[in-house]
Amino acid sequence: RDNLPRTAPTTQDVTLDMVGGLADVVAELRQIAVSFRHPEAMARWGARRPQGILMYGPPGTGKTMLSRALANEIGAEFREIRTPEILDKWLGGSEKNLKEIFRAARRYKTPTLILFDEFDSIVSYAGAGGDAASQALNAVAGIFKQEMNDLIEENPNVIVVATTNFPHRVDESLIRSGRFDVKISVPRPDDVTRAEIFRKMIRGLIGVHEKPGFRMFADDLDLAVLGTASGGMTGADIKEVLRRVQLAKAMEDAGGRTVTPISQQDLLSAVEGLRGSS
Ligand code: ATP
Repeated sequence: RDNLPRTAPTTQDVTLDMVGGLADVVAELRQIAVSFRHPEAMARWGARRPQGILMYGPPGTGKTMLSRALANEIGAEFREIRTPEILDKWLGGSEKNLKEIFRAARRYKTPTLILFDEFDSIVSYAGAGGDAASQALNAVAGIFKQEMNDLIEENPNVIVVATTNFPHRVDESLIRSGRFDVKISVPRPDDVTRAEIFRKMIRGLIGVHEKPGFRMFADDLDLAVLGTASGGMTGADIKEVLRRVQLAKAMEDAGGRTVTPISQQDLLSAVEGLRGSS
């Protein structure tokens, strides 16, 4: 079990090191973090740091996690906005909510990352027809564009990340370069990436929970086999597999039984269990 060291970091904060696979994405985010941590170098070369990032890909592939990890890497405060929640059915309500978010953002003195998730909800009806609902959403999209321009102009401390499962629903003008300079695809993981996600998650659990005299995982884990067996699943699914196994072990423990460490078979059964239940 050479690849599962007992000396893993015990921090609960999400970092880019915890991301399984997605090496290109992680490298790009590290570079963005450097641009925030070294404003002097950026200024010397007249380089503009990217302040808008669009992340797109299927649900559960790590977009939110990557955003949090980026915030940590920058040392930025993390603010998550559930985009559908700011959309208000009353005339002008959505615009007002959006303006308030950006008005506050223009004043942030320290680095802050604002995540708009389900970003496509802002524009998902745009172009769908001339009805009142789509006109209202077009107005919201217009406000967003304007506010984003003003923010980038006025406050270099803020970085805006928008995530979506449906990039084709997001109006091109909304995410054009200048507003969202960086567009990142976060794909569904392949076998090797899933093995890597298992490895990182298990390593994290070991770091946090194993103590002298308490072994959480058995020695027989074969991560490559787990990566293949979990075909089609995402990082979120793998997290759920582990959650189920942890819960089952805790229940045995609570029942006063002697509990064996989590084994390859426990994990494979949970993978099959999750497949059966979805
Ligand atoms: P949605 O589009 O539904 O909002 P998402 O892409 O934002 O989904 P996350 O919420 O970031 O997905 O992922 C859920 C959880 O799955 C994360 O908290 C993380 O624990 C885990 N996860 C997903 N992908 C990875 C990965 N590549 N490496 C490590 N963990 C991952």
